[in-house]
Amino acid sequence: TKAHIEAIEKARALNAFLTETPELALAAAQDSDARIARGEARPLEGLPLGIKDLYCTKGVRTTAASRILDDFTPTYESTVSANLWRDGALMLGKLNLDEFAMGSSNETSAFGPVVSPWRRKKGEGFDDAKIVPGGSSGGSSAAVAARLALGATATDTGGSIRQPAAFTGTVGIKPTYGRCSRWGIVAFASSLDQAGPITRTVRDAAIMLRSMAGHDPKDTTSVDAPVPDYEAAIGASVKGRRIGIPKEYRIGGGAEINALWDQGVAWLRDGGAEIVEISLPHTRFALPAYYIIAPAEASSNLARYDGVRYGLREKGRDIADMYEKTRAKGFGAEVRRRVMIGAYVLSHGYYDAYYVRAQKIRSLIKRDFDEAFAAGVDAVLTPATPSTAFAQGEKGAADPVEMYLNDIFTVTVNMAGLPGIAVPGGLGADGLPLGLQLIGRPFDEATLFSLAAALE
Ligand code: GLN
Repeated sequence: TKAHIEAIEKARALNAFLTETPELALAAAQDSDARIARGEARPLEGLPLGIKDLYCTKGVRTTAASRILDDFTPTYESTVSANLWRDGALMLGKLNLDEFAMGSSNETSAFGPVVSPWRRKKGEGFDDAKIVPGGSSGGSSAAVAARLALGATATDTGGSIRQPAAFTGTVGIKPTYGRCSRWGIVAFASSLDQAGPITRTVRDAAIMLRSMAGHDPKDTTSVDAPVPDYEAAIGASVKGRRIGIPKEYRIGGGAEINALWDQGVAWLRDGGAEIVEISLPHTRFALPAYYIIAPAEASSNLARYDGVRYGLREKGRDIADMYEKTRAKGFGAEVRRRVMIGAYVLSHGYYDAYYVRAQKIRSLIKRDFDEAFAAGVDAVLTPATPSTAFAQGEKGAADPVEMYLNDIFTVTVNMAGLPGIAVPGGLGADGLPLGLQLIGRPFDEATLFSLAAALE
């Protein structure tokens, strides 16, 4: 814990932590030492973790990287973080993210972007460009990649665990919708949001997810199903496993990405897996449908930030004026854009044309996966992202859709509610990490862990 606290202090230029809690961490570490000495160690005893600042932490400022929650200190603990503390882990601090988890590069944080510890190759040396750690869980991925935390919590609505993991050479799993409780995690798009870990290894992810997961009566969408010992799945043979390769995903990335994908296929085939081409015909509609559903739910979830119940309040002539001024000042540009899109697609006269259609597409995407699994496919292998990480300011400044395209391989998984894991696949020509993604059957994270460990 002390080594991690020192590493955090030395790496402040990365801007990975929004709040550091060294005193709490050291006190918890002492308690852990005492338990270990008594022979009463819990499963995660004394393991120092970072917590994405979207998880409410009792008595510790929680901002969602937004001005509107600048001085919000929850009086309660999210279920998932409470599960980690129950099992003996301890908190080093709260990690930066895109504002309300909206973004793919951690550049929308009200507290400044996170910098990846990775550097891009240039000739014989390195570029000076600041590389993004991905988003929205960019503080989590940067902290784990830079060895500032042993592991970190993250959340994934359209790719925010898997894309930052891929960009930083770390492992990230978005479990099945309902596997982890969303209680006490600031909501973005409630039907898509899931908690999960970012870690250095597949084994660490398996250990951490087991503690995070489980039924919670406080979240009616959390599922009452046993949580298996995921660690036990690691080391299992991939022989005879049937891996689907969706032909529609060929179009998403460049030659380098397709080569990485072929490499992943070869690794699994060498291990004895059976590789089959599959078709997920509605893939191309996933991104546009996601960017209707996610903003629609966000506009509804963010209605609660009205200057009355939480955080920031600006002065106004009357209550409507106060709302307007508070929200105009408290929300950044990307959040305002999402709220406007969401309010528009939910409004009378547009609801059927946009929102209802997007929901129908969502059903078709889910059905595509159902059919592949019904045909005997155990997991689907794809690239995690269409490129390696880019530099700050390089994408999305003129056209936000350029940034949204980053999610092309990940959003389908949230739309279908399935588990997906990102695992490092190698380095691109620019020296930056590339990730592979495995998508599994509902509640079959164990298979993903066993396959991912074979790719690691
Ligand atoms: N990049 C996507 C978005 O901006 C996904 C974000 C996420 O998964 N939280 O909506």
